[in-house]
Amino acid sequence: MKRIGIIGGMSYESTIRYYTELNRLVNERAGGLNSAEIFLRSVNFENYHAWMREGDWEWIGIQLGREAKALRYGCKCDYVVIATNTMHKIADLVERYVLFPLDGLHPFVHVGDCIAEDCRRRNFNRVALLGTKFTMTEDFLVNRISRSGVTVGNIHSEILSDAGVINEIDNIIFEELCHGDASNESLRFFRNLTDTLVQKEGFDGIILGCTELGEAFHRANIPDYRLVDSAEVHIQKLAELCLS
Ligand code: GLU
Repeated sequence: MKRIGIIGGMSYESTIRYYTELNRLVNERAGGLNSAEIFLRSVNFENYHAWMREGDWEWIGIQLGREAKALRYGCKCDYVVIATNTMHKIADLVERYVLFPLDGLHPFVHVGDCIAEDCRRRNFNRVALLGTKFTMTEDFLVNRISRSGVTVGNIHSEILSDAGVINEIDNIIFEELCHGDASNESLRFFRNLTDTLVQKEGFDGIILGCTELGEAFHRANIPDYRLVDSAEVHIQKLAELCLS
């Protein structure tokens, strides 16, 4: 079995899901008492959150790059992931720290590639991207997804180009979801947002481009046939790689 290195803790709420779900999928496929070979490096999110707000992305890249290198070469992990979308802003730097491919496969498993693969499989050509302010307003994830031919239509969406809406989503993520909470008001907000994006704005799919959003949308009872949950597709890819 291949060994997976996870850089988590951002937030720990969503990392729990990576750990549990990856083991569950591996056990479901391999049977018996099989479980995933995992090295988990869980960081203190408070530090990273402060560096993010200060805009010190180069420092974040160096820190996470070193963590990735330790997992890859110290702990001999075959594959390494960052269990958050936002930190993929510095994915290029992290990829450079774990450059050497294993059996021709790149050891860094980018969440954007897993999202794009799922969109293509489900014929979602025009999608909306939800996530933190960084993920929604910058192009690091949009570009990675778009290179597979899927259009991320946030800039042409009336609701998703509204700074108030972007801030609201960002606040809910950091103030509630990262603490394992979701108020009824926030769940209602996500239900209304989904209705607007699908019914009024005609999106094929909605990318939950934040690892805490899947759980919140589940709690809000939003049907998943239009949703691409980044954590779910990332974990599914890891389970596949584990058993490859
Ligand atoms: N886990 C979230 C994400 O997937 C947000 C927290 C972070 O900034 O890393 O983007």
